[in-house]
Amino acid sequence: MRLLISNDDGIYSPGLALLARVAHKFGDVVVVAPDAERSSASHSISSTRPLSYKKTAFADGIPAYRVDGTPADCVALGMFNQRNVDVVLSGVNLGPNMGNSLWHSGTLAAAHQAALLGARGIAFSTPVIGESPDLEGLAPYVERVLDLLLPRTDLRLVNVNLPARPRGIHWVRQAIEQYDGEVVPANDPYNRPIYWIAVTQLREHAEGTDLWAFERGYITVTPIDLGLTDQAALPNVDQAVIEFPDVDEPELLHESDRETMDEVERAALVK
Ligand code: MN
Repeated sequence: MRLLISNDDGIYSPGLALLARVAHKFGDVVVVAPDAERSSASHSISSTRPLSYKKTAFADGIPAYRVDGTPADCVALGMFNQRNVDVVLSGVNLGPNMGNSLWHSGTLAAAHQAALLGARGIAFSTPVIGESPDLEGLAPYVERVLDLLLPRTDLRLVNVNLPARPRGIHWVRQAIEQYDGEVVPANDPYNRPIYWIAVTQLREHAEGTDLWAFERGYITVTPIDLGLTDQAALPNVDQAVIEFPDVDEPELLHESDRETMDEVERAALVK
């Protein structure tokens, strides 16, 4: 099995080293991660500038590369340069990723990028309590989760959160009932207004959700859907297609037309 390890905390995160070391027991491992922290980068890609891909010394002699881009960039470049990647493991993120924070997570996005490119993705996160989390203590639990999930070739994208001392593993849905972001106003040294986008503590988690199970000491495992369509809403519209009168069916754009359009665009740039 060929495993690519990435994250959003950056190439020097101890959580990345832990995940790469544990993954090493399951197959060939290569690390491709951001050169600096890109937490909350979500699934953004760098489409307006080129990217570098630099060989980097890494723990246990594991081959590693750092990219001056986002987590999704790292997985795109990693899967381009390292052929036949089966699974991308992302993390272990230093900080949990549950509930609506999944929308912002670069950790999940790296795994998501793998799924979009035809591989599978598993994202790992753990809370930071005090100075630093007990990553060594987490190693056997990461291994246990990989034992469980790596054979599940039917699951394309999975999100995992590990409490410090887990009592078990719980398959759960993402909590979507509440949002944990808030805007905190303050003043800069010149008394001008500034703002922090901060995280609030949520209470009262709905049963069967990631936040609910995590609070009870379980490792949470959530299979993630790759589509955003509200499947329940779609059949409930009054009219699935609304045709406008007197409009001819458009001709489909052919490849040759696209090339002509590219030439037109290039000509416009030269001017
Ligand atoms: Mn992070």
